[in-house]
Amino acid sequence: MIKITNLNKSFGNVHVLKGITTTIEQGSVVAVIGPSGSGKSTFLRCMNLLETPSNGEIWMDEIEVTNPKCNIMKIREDVGMVFQHFHLFPHMTVLENITYAPINVKGMSKTKAEENAKALLEKVGLLEKANVYPPKLSGGQKQRVAIARALAMEPKVMLFDEPTSALDPEMVKEVLEVMKSLAHTGMTMVIVTHEMGFAKEVADRILFLDEGNLVEDATPIELFTKPKTNRAKLFLEKVL
Ligand code: ADP
Ligand code: MG
Repeated sequence: MIKITNLNKSFGNVHVLKGITTTIEQGSVVAVIGPSGSGKSTFLRCMNLLETPSNGEIWMDEIEVTNPKCNIMKIREDVGMVFQHFHLFPHMTVLENITYAPINVKGMSKTKAEENAKALLEKVGLLEKANVYPPKLSGGQKQRVAIARALAMEPKVMLFDEPTSALDPEMVKEVLEVMKSLAHTGMTMVIVTHEMGFAKEVADRILFLDEGNLVEDATPIELFTKPKTNRAKLFLEKVL
């Protein structure tokens, strides 16, 4: 479904992604791991054009994302993103956060958008928070709202950039549970994470990035039991 060929990204003369080639199958869950600064966030951000790739191609189904004529708004509709720091609109209620883009970007009626939003809130276990403002929520609740908000656009792919890294330990599980149930619905997901247990359990494949190179592209069992490279081995020794 997503085909990435020789993806390069530089910021000025800093070469951050160095020719990444991989394919992400429809309905698969791909975890992206690697040291801080290895290019994981940049890799995700290139997929929905939050960053403009310097070189290479990204195709989503039949659409060439890297074609300068590609409709960025359409890509952003199809590719949902969840960030480490939630990025909710603090002055809007939970329900308004979720219905804003469906109403204003997709042109959905308010009634329909609210109906969808409530169904999503029920899925993430937060229906009773519909009329609350984000500052009144815990970190785990905020992140679950952020997931519901991204899903409200009915994306084809969901990108997660360290969705649990800013959470207190006791809230990590509730967010991972929501992500796990989303994975079971067949959503295509690309997840930058340091949660190795989660990656092992839920991911179909793991990409290991190091200094902007895709060093390993393997199943969890392959990567965790016999990494092919010394770099992955050293990294895993530190995090497992
Ligand atoms: P990771 O998510 O793996 O920690 P990033 O993709 O955030 O890594 O960053 C990879 C490298 O790119 C880092 O060296 C970082 O400083 C650099 N970088 C990221 N974004 C920018 C930017 N907007 N301008 C300049 N350098 C950047
Ligand atoms: Mg990052």
